[in-house]
Amino acid sequence: MNNDAQRWKDKYLAGLEQQEVLERRWGARVDLLRRGLVRSSLAAEGADKAVDQCMQELREILRRDDMDGGLAALIPRLEKAVLDSEQRRQQRVGQVSTALLALVDQLLDLNLPREVRKPLKSYAKQLDRRAEQVRELPLLLAELSTLQQQALAVLGHEQVERPGLFQRLFASSTPAIPAPQPVPQPLQPAMVPLAVDRPMAEATALAARPITPNAVRAAAPVPTANLLDSLPLPAGLLTPTAPDCPEAAVDEYALPSPPEPGYSAIATHVETTLLGLLDELALPQHHQDQADLLRERILAGLNMYELVPVLDDLAVLMLALADAGQHEFEGYLKQLNERLATFQGGLQDAHDGYTDSVSAARELDSELRQQVDGLHNSVQQATDLPSLKELVETRLNGLLGTMEQYQRQRDEREQLVAGRLQTLVERVANMEREAKGFRQHLEEQRQKALLDPLTALPNRAAWNERLDLEVARWQRYGGELLLAVVDIDHFKRVNDEYGHLAGDKVLKIIAGELHKRLRKTDFIARFGGEEFALLIPATPLAGGLQLLETLRAGIAACPFHFRGERVTITLSAGISAFASAERGEQVFERADQALYRAKRDGRNRVEAD
Ligand code: GH3
Ligand code: MG
Ligand code: MG
Repeated sequence: MNNDAQRWKDKYLAGLEQQEVLERRWGARVDLLRRGLVRSSLAAEGADKAVDQCMQELREILRRDDMDGGLAALIPRLEKAVLDSEQRRQQRVGQVSTALLALVDQLLDLNLPREVRKPLKSYAKQLDRRAEQVRELPLLLAELSTLQQQALAVLGHEQVERPGLFQRLFASSTPAIPAPQPVPQPLQPAMVPLAVDRPMAEATALAARPITPNAVRAAAPVPTANLLDSLPLPAGLLTPTAPDCPEAAVDEYALPSPPEPGYSAIATHVETTLLGLLDELALPQHHQDQADLLRERILAGLNMYELVPVLDDLAVLMLALADAGQHEFEGYLKQLNERLATFQGGLQDAHDGYTDSVSAARELDSELRQQVDGLHNSVQQATDLPSLKELVETRLNGLLGTMEQYQRQRDEREQLVAGRLQTLVERVANMEREAKGFRQHLEEQRQKALLDPLTALPNRAAWNERLDLEVARWQRYGGELLLAVVDIDHFKRVNDEYGHLAGDKVLKIIAGELHKRLRKTDFIARFGGEEFALLIPATPLAGGLQLLETLRAGIAACPFHFRGERVTITLSAGISAFASAERGEQVFERADQALYRAKRDGRNRVEAD
């Protein structure tokens, strides 16, 4: 090989080596670019949907070996997507900056002091430029929020000092706390019963309350019409609306006007009940002052808000009473126990006295025997008459002395025992008297507990007692026994239309009307609500039906009236007879079903089981 050839060969080998180096470097660079592109594509994602799509494709192409073709196709699409995305970003920036500017303008429209206006204006000036930068957006929002807060703080402060439109409009008619006003006295005291003071006071109180639409509505009808209606008019002023019931004075059936809605409707009733309850409480002396104060508060009239504390105080008093009653009873038992112990001691003494006298009698007996024996021996041993006489005399004196001593001791003992017995007898009599008092008190309480306070009829507890008694009597002596259930028709309407006070009055009158038409041996109880239960002994079913029919007709004819207009109130009833070996509950159930039929078939009727 000549020199030239050798030179070319060396050159070729060197070139080959350089190419290999360059190829390795190129490969490394392509690798780096690939990784860089993958990372950038990941980082660029999320800004625009179309760009994201291209980026995803780019990553897939970069993973392939033949990326040239793929890239050549992708790059023009990517360029377009990026341009479109940029355009959209510009639009968004414009929108954001317009929106922020609008907010700033709104604030600038308000009457703000200079120190707040100035930073707002400079903020507005920089807005367009800064909004270009995405990273500036959070800062811009934070700054606007601060500026807004400053503006609102200034405005809020001003509003406290200067009342707003609504405040200025309503300030005079809505004081936060209404000033208390004196309750005026009724104009004609002679005509106004206690019960009517309440609506009058309510009306005045209403006038002092804040004005709300409801208050206006409630206050409007209160004046004259309602007040006059609730006055008990002198006899003769009311026109009898139902001449078909001559038995009773018609105004007795006048239903009170409803001072409803509101607490006032039941205030008088609540007060009367509470006062009645207070009167009934037999309070210990040291609670009397509390009770008097409570009574004064109730008498001064209660509103809804005062009712709860009054009830709380009353509950405290009742608990105290229960406590005192418990203590009293405990005290009585303790005393009784002590007395019984003394009594037992007295009996023991009396017994001891008796034992003493028995042993004393025995002692006397043996003494006498000894003395008689001695006398006997003396008589036998005596040798002459004078000494015998002397001996006998001595012995007889001894005998008499013993007898006298015994007699004396026995008298003393008897006196003692008699005294003790007398004490015992007195104690027993005392205890009996006290026990009788307690029994009487208990019985009175029991009787009270068995009465319904509204209608004064026996209540449900009394019903249960009487039912047991009548059933036992019927089972023992046979005959007939009827049970009836009576229910006022549509009573809810009475309450709804005329108020609860009127409802109560109706209940009271109906209870009286029913009761007065029954025989002495019949029994009626308020079973609950507007429902009454009757026991009618020694009557056949036909007779019972007749009686119930009389009751029904009597109630339907009662001339109830409201503001001069007749109000007809009716009742329905169901009746059933006891059959052999039946319990009260079963018969009640049947009578109740009959009542249900009477209701279903139109009311104001009587049905037999
Ligand atoms: P129905 O003819 O079906 O017996 O209808 P009703 O409205 O009489 O019967 P309901 O059982 O629906 O309503 C009875 C009402 O009686 C509801 C209750 O508020 C009222 N009520 C119960 N006890 C008393 C009370 O002591 N005084 C007053 N005023 N209402 C009472
Ligand atoms: Mg009813
Ligand atoms: Mg009912």
